[in-house]
Amino acid sequence: MKISKVTPMVLGTEWRNLTIVKVETDDGLVGVGECRALNRTDGVLGYLSEAAPRYILGEDPFNVEALVARMFREDFGRAGEITQTVTALLEVACWDIIGKALGQPVYKLLGGAVRHQIKGYANGWYTGERTPDEFHAAAKKVLDKGYRALKFDPFGAGFYEMERAEKNYVISLVEAVRDAVGPDVEILIEMHGRFNPVTAVEFARELAPFKPSWLEEPVPPENIAAQKKAADAIAPLGIPVATGERLHTMYEYRELFELQACDIIQPDITHFGGILNTKKLAAWAEAYYMLIAPHNVGGPISTAAALHLAACTPNFKIQEHFNDFAEAYVKKAAPGNPEIEDGYFALPSGPGLGVTLDEDVVAANPRRRVHFNLFAEDWHRRSAEVD
Ligand SMILES: [Mg+2]
Repeated sequence: MKISKVTPMVLGTEWRNLTIVKVETDDGLVGVGECRALNRTDGVLGYLSEAAPRYILGEDPFNVEALVARMFREDFGRAGEITQTVTALLEVACWDIIGKALGQPVYKLLGGAVRHQIKGYANGWYTGERTPDEFHAAAKKVLDKGYRALKFDPFGAGFYEMERAEKNYVISLVEAVRDAVGPDVEILIEMHGRFNPVTAVEFARELAPFKPSWLEEPVPPENIAAQKKAADAIAPLGIPVATGERLHTMYEYRELFELQACDIIQPDITHFGGILNTKKLAAWAEAYYMLIAPHNVGGPISTAAALHLAACTPNFKIQEHFNDFAEAYVKKAAPGNPEIEDGYFALPSGPGLGVTLDEDVVAANPRRRVHFNLFAEDWHRRSAEVD
């Protein structure tokens, strides 16, 4: 079996363009991959156009290890966000083909199920006014959709530090959400790498009474020693620290592991070279008793990849999911994933990823001109179209 064709397409939404690849083989199998290349769609499409003929056309889709290794080494330049994203697009599509060729769901080819359901959490649900009342009402709707865990960033456009009055307002937002969901729902606090260590730690202390289940990206991702400084000071408060969605290679994770600078790692399968790379990273994390909660801002294909990894990975914690709070057509672009129910997804089905691309839906919702800027006022509305 050889790969005969690679076709990219882009599904546009209000704040993210989802890049999808359709990979076809000479015997008629089709696999799909997808990513959300935030604000860098042309970069991904450009590298894909160079890499596809070089690395995957004419190759056997079963050889995912060789595909990933060659894409990492043979261009010589260091791998980063764009290259690891394109590698993941193709790698995930290969797993879809492998599963279809063997008539099995992907997770059964990666060790088999280690759980019978997958805990999920909602994101992208707070797009109204940034007020305690609106966040309170929106959080209740998350529970109505079947979630028992939700994540949000209450910090507005904060960067490095915030004024005292702004800090108090942030605390009022978290208080409103805890009040809405009751004591037993998991609240995950997203910091988006906004703060210097001392500000992140101060927030951790002030938010501790609301029992957050983690603090995410307390500091920007480039300086792991600063991450370590924040995590060490937050640990006595009993709040786990999560990070890693903006680390793209094993080598970038090495220092995080060696310094034991977090409790939960959040690689994004679609920016980390794919499913097998992320599975290997999870095994490495396990040696440090760290859990993995893969970052997933993608559509249905990225979500399927994440659910298959979750099904077969012992130190998996919880899966991020946006698409219950996105345009309805996003899920329709590749239906087949389980829906959240009482806090959990059922195991994904197969063969392959278990989702089927609907090219008509993609064609009807083309790429948009968006700039999603997490440091702009009102970014949380996720209304990012530009002229
Ligand atoms: Mg994040």
